[in-house]
Amino acid sequence: NERLIMQSEKLKLAGEIAAEVAHEIRNPMTVVSGFVQMMASDKDSPYYSYTGLIQPEIERIDMIISDFLVLSRPQANTYKPFDICPLLDDVAKLFSFELQSRHIQFFMETEEKTAVILGNANQIKQVLINLLKNAMEAIDKEGSIRILLRKEKKHIIVSLKDSGLGIPPHLLERIFEPFYTTKSTGTGLGMMIANKIITEHMGTITICSQEQIGTEISISLPLLLSDK
Ligand code: ADP
Ligand code: MG
Repeated sequence: NERLIMQSEKLKLAGEIAAEVAHEIRNPMTVVSGFVQMMASDKDSPYYSYTGLIQPEIERIDMIISDFLVLSRPQANTYKPFDICPLLDDVAKLFSFELQSRHIQFFMETEEKTAVILGNANQIKQVLINLLKNAMEAIDKEGSIRILLRKEKKHIIVSLKDSGLGIPPHLLERIFEPFYTTKSTGTGLGMMIANKIITEHMGTITICSQEQIGTEISISLPLLLSDK
């Protein structure tokens, strides 16, 4: 038991340090990125050909840092009532161009006009972004993504269903692990962060997946108020 406590404290400390380090890396990275952009704009430079290799790596570092910074944001004490419905519209808008250009049919059905929960709207938005991004990345050529919002007793359920490649059963339990990814350019942090945020909001995430058919990921969150 004592060992478990030590372990969780260690993890907490590691998370705090990671977030701090991520923050500190941002500034020098901006300088590096600026000079690489300068090199990239000069076709006569002897280093011009390397810039195409450096830039994606910088973007990758930036992605990992963004993911970590979410973890360092203030939590429970900043929880406020907010409506999740406009958040869904925001996220859908954010991805509308990419969905179109990837030939993904997108549907959104909301059975409720409002769905107020107690929490941090930015964090919930981050969860929706992470899930929608994964759904998009799971679709190879064309396919569909369906978001459904409904009420179930005292909970609001948001489910994202994609017609993507699916998750093999033996990998299902691993997708919440930090840095677990099956993608060549993935960070493996998206689901870990989603799970952490939803758990902190007293919610749950459930996954239903079939290889070659698709995946449905549902988040359930305690409802605060409703118009009904
Ligand atoms: P990343 O997207 O950077 O790989 P995530 O933590 O977001 O990291 O996801 C971890 C892994 O879970 C992915 O690499 C993928 O294998 C699997 N996964 C998550 N969502 C889906 C989905 N909708 N369809 C298929 N696989 C998924
Ligand atoms: Mg992801």
